[in-house]
Amino acid sequence: MTEETMDEADMLKWAKAYAHKQGFLLNTEEKQLNTVIKGLVRNKNKFGRPYCPCRLRSGDEEKDRAIECPCAYHKEEIATQGQCHCNLYFKGT
Ligand code: SF4
Repeated sequence: MTEETMDEADMLKWAKAYAHKQGFLLNTEEKQLNTVIKGLVRNKNKFGRPYCPCRLRSGDEEKDRAIECPCAYHKEEIATQGQCHCNLYFKGT
């Protein structure tokens, strides 16, 4: 992701494009989806990176790269549980 400020529409567009590329689906529960999108926007604009809103940052940039969305864990979570920890991405049909 780039360094410029993002709004929720930009983030949703980005998440949709990523889901499409990977064959994932976005959460169909609009309220839950919007909460995660808002959290990602907040982190992106506050810290410069779209850190996962459902995980704790350590404050160490190097370590926290793993929790930058799409995080290092999402593919395994989606494969084993059907969705990522935040319920942003779901396994495609
Ligand atoms: S758990 Fe989902 S929303 Fe959170 S960083 Fe990973 S992919 Fe993104």
